[in-house]
Amino acid sequence: MSESPSGLVYLVGAGPGDLGLVTFRAKELIGSCDVLVYDYLAHPELVKWCRPGCEVFYVGKKAGCHTVPQEEIENLLVAHARAGRKVVRLKGGDPYVFGRGGEEARALAREGIPFEVVPGVTAALAAGAYSGIPLTYRNLSTSLVLLTGHEDPVKTESQVDWRAYGALQNATLAIYMGMGRIGFILGELQAGGLAADTPAAVVQWATLGRQRSVAGTVADLEERVTRAGLGAPAIIFVGEVVREHEMIDWFERLPLFGRRVAITRTRDQNSELREKLEALGAEVLELPLITISKDVDKVGFVEILSELGTYDWIVFTSANGVRYFFEDFLKGYSDIRALGLLRFACIGRATAREIERHFIKVECMPDTATGSSLADALIATGSLDSAKVIVVTGNLNRDRLVKKLEAARAIVDRMQLYKTEKTDLTADPVADHFRTRGADAILFASSSAAESYHAQGDALALGPDAQKPLVGSIGEQTTESLSEFGLPPDFVAPKPSLDALISSLIARLGPVKRV
Ligand code: SAH
Repeated sequence: MSESPSGLVYLVGAGPGDLGLVTFRAKELIGSCDVLVYDYLAHPELVKWCRPGCEVFYVGKKAGCHTVPQEEIENLLVAHARAGRKVVRLKGGDPYVFGRGGEEARALAREGIPFEVVPGVTAALAAGAYSGIPLTYRNLSTSLVLLTGHEDPVKTESQVDWRAYGALQNATLAIYMGMGRIGFILGELQAGGLAADTPAAVVQWATLGRQRSVAGTVADLEERVTRAGLGAPAIIFVGEVVREHEMIDWFERLPLFGRRVAITRTRDQNSELREKLEALGAEVLELPLITISKDVDKVGFVEILSELGTYDWIVFTSANGVRYFFEDFLKGYSDIRALGLLRFACIGRATAREIERHFIKVECMPDTATGSSLADALIATGSLDSAKVIVVTGNLNRDRLVKKLEAARAIVDRMQLYKTEKTDLTADPVADHFRTRGADAILFASSSAAESYHAQGDALALGPDAQKPLVGSIGEQTTESLSEFGLPPDFVAPKPSLDALISSLIARLGPVKRV
């Protein structure tokens, strides 16, 4: 908890959805706050940036339930700040654009609570950029109007005079929360003088893999949108600039745009797979099948550490292992040189990066991220005969690796630093998404991924309307495990790398039908 006697509230814009569009400042604050309050438009991944012990409150709409009333949210912010905590209130997009951030700031000011505001990329800017609609354009549009289509039924004075906006010249209108009344809004704009052939478009779920857009004119957009089944959250754009959409759209042309791909989050290298798929436009459902938590076998740890100088190699199979190792190592030693000439080996680029953060060179890393290829790579160094090797493990894994090393006459000691457990998927939003919608494909990048997917089979059973995914495997060993679990792959990467797996996926799925 922060030490300030009076806490502080940060009203923070979380951007439109894509994690890459969250500001650096926002990320820093999420990672250091005591309390995080967020709602439904914020990306679920953001919550994972919190430090352990941070208290998290969800105040958005849940299926069938109402949002937490505004007053209650304000009280929550005030109460935690009064208790001396550093509170981050995350809001989709920008807090001061149709986000009620102004009201929250006012409530804090009234109560004498110090606060700061961090802007975010608002949905209209993001939707324009990701759909090829420049919001202003020389000679075509010289002004941009952000409007809300949502009417507050009690406050008639807040109603927008749509006809007046229909009379504007050379303007781009960006309408938030307008999908429920799109026909009425477009009709009123025309009644105000806007030509029926004025270009207009809707962009739903902008910046995310599930983005959809439909373009037309103010006269036919409603019908097109209904046909395509688009709904909230979306921005309605009106103005000549919408014509550019055809010409300069880039996001919706990406090879995996419009595709939903499930992956299994088992080990750290999977975030690399997610990033690669998202960069190609896919909507990625990362199924959190297992939970890894620190669980150090203290006796073993101290024993090994006291004889550290006698070991030749230390072997890591996950970035978590590296993190936990250094956390505890640095509690006992304040100097990295206490590691002596210990050589480092690992699998996965994320693991190597974590080691290199300590300015330590990774001397052995196989191209394929499996325990067995790591053993082969170590054997190939010719240094294992009578060598002492530390293998950092979880509670279950790595028998194969250890056996192979021992067969090559190494003396292996296991250092257990974490444990791996099944995640409870019943209430998990990503798992729920997968069960109800399914996916175009599910990718397996390791045998352990196949194993944990199989172990969670019941919790992932697809609903009646869900799309049955094609199964993709990264290579021989994973294919073997998949077949063993009754899930023979539909396609296999020609060589065991994430890029090859993704290329086979693209080839297998073929071009996407655009709406
Ligand atoms: N403060 C937010 C707006 C909140 S109001 C911001 O600055 O963006 C909620 C409305 O924002 C939605 O109904 C929709 O109109 C729009 N919106 C938010 N995220 C969006 C997205 N990813 N794509 C399209 N519209 C979005």
